[in-house]
Amino acid sequence: MTPIRAVFFDRDGTLIYDYGYLSDPARVRPYKCAREALLLLQKAGYHFFMVSNQSGIGRGYFPPTAAHAVNRRVCELLRPAHFEAIAFCPHAPEENCTCRKPLPKLGLELIKKYHIDVAHSFMIGDKKSDIDFGHNIGCPSILVQTANGKKHQQKYRDMHPVYIARDLLRAAKFILREGK
Ligand SMILES: [Mg+2]
Ligand SMILES: [Zn+2]
Repeated sequence: MTPIRAVFFDRDGTLIYDYGYLSDPARVRPYKCAREALLLLQKAGYHFFMVSNQSGIGRGYFPPTAAHAVNRRVCELLRPAHFEAIAFCPHAPEENCTCRKPLPKLGLELIKKYHIDVAHSFMIGDKKSDIDFGHNIGCPSILVQTANGKKHQQKYRDMHPVYIARDLLRAAKFILREGK
């Protein structure tokens, strides 16, 4: 199988507005430029994966079924962009699980299952944990300044994204320029 080039996306604050512990599909609102950004990347041959920390489940705020419903709504609203797979960590931070970003487990599983060429793939997110996750799975990470992005950019000096983008569309354009 020929390896595929992937873009891993954080969900809340990267693809869609982050209202905190989103559990109602009716409230899903993608960023205005999200669909355009995805379509540009899709046209360039990238395959999409969503990797999300959904600690609202572990904290007992909502059941896994609600997270699935929100994910389905995100995909629906971003069509015809297509996500190959969606992976999420359902645990609260105190549970010390092995799958919460920035830990690489969910990403490594996707890389293996979908034959992803990590060196030519990218991670995009709005938090330090997303940037560190990218590094932990072996691909360059882009910080978007939406949601927590600006705050984390100032707060964490030890975070090393390859690029800081004002929004998802600028992140996509960076990938089109830099991706080989
Ligand atoms: Mg986020
Ligand atoms: Zn977990």
